[in-house]
Amino acid sequence: MATALITHAECLEHVTPNGHPERVARLEHVLHALEGLDLRRETAPLVDPAHLAYVHPQAHVDAIVAAQPAEGFHQLDADTWISPGSVNAAFRAAGAVVKAVDLVLDDEVGNAFCAIRPPGHHAETSTPMGFCLFGNAAIGAKHALEAHGLSRVAVVDFDVHHGNGTQDLLWNEARALTITSQQMPLWPGTGDPSERGAHDNVLNVPLAPRSGGAEMRAAYEAQVFPRLRAFKPELIILSAGFDAHQDDPLAELQWSTEDFRWLTRQLCALAADLCEGRIVSTLEGGYDLSALAESARAHVEELMEAAS
Ligand SMILES: [Zn+2]
Repeated sequence: MATALITHAECLEHVTPNGHPERVARLEHVLHALEGLDLRRETAPLVDPAHLAYVHPQAHVDAIVAAQPAEGFHQLDADTWISPGSVNAAFRAAGAVVKAVDLVLDDEVGNAFCAIRPPGHHAETSTPMGFCLFGNAAIGAKHALEAHGLSRVAVVDFDVHHGNGTQDLLWNEARALTITSQQMPLWPGTGDPSERGAHDNVLNVPLAPRSGGAEMRAAYEAQVFPRLRAFKPELIILSAGFDAHQDDPLAELQWSTEDFRWLTRQLCALAADLCEGRIVSTLEGGYDLSALAESARAHVEELMEAAS
């Protein structure tokens, strides 16, 4: 089957101030790197409000919409800005993940990659945070549970920063296993292994600053893969951040592009064993443009290889 690539030009209309790391050029570079690949290209819809409501109260959505400026920028917190195109971009980002879940669970495609921004894994229930407005990955997980009737969905977040938002949104959801690896210590400061969810449904995997691919592979083999095998997910959602790359300016892990390729291949193999290969991957961080583009390309190539 095919691998779907889901994106929308409006995701380029979420603009941040000059010098901000989460910038339009990130998605442009990712899309350029994926040109020429034999992907099933799909347009991201605006998210259905009922799907945002899986994880966010209406007051949160209303606050984001109300904060969007008619021109220029509005600053939501120290790191998080919105511009006149941001709400639609964020609605497309969440809509992309919902569509990806539908395509994969309806067996229209083997797996899917959502090339979207703003990212989502730092957005908490009622708090935009860390460049993120809505919890894209968590919304996808809830959609698989609520609309498709799945019993077990796993989210694996390999962004270098802790997926505090996804952890928050799925903390009480016993049907979802959230696994997040992160450099520790690092912003946002959460992600200690003692944070385990209301139903022992969260696994935090800290990685030491300056550690590299060998340490990552060992941690995933010792902790992440066995936990996934024990949980037996029916769908795996990936929060695919590429900021653990050695060239990334925001963190200090030393992964290579080949480490992202290896990790994707392992997760695809696990998905093949556990859930007919069903993977939905959504873009999170990654702030060195070349490393991001190269790593995303390797990631998608492995998804395609697994789906073929
Ligand atoms: Zn990150």
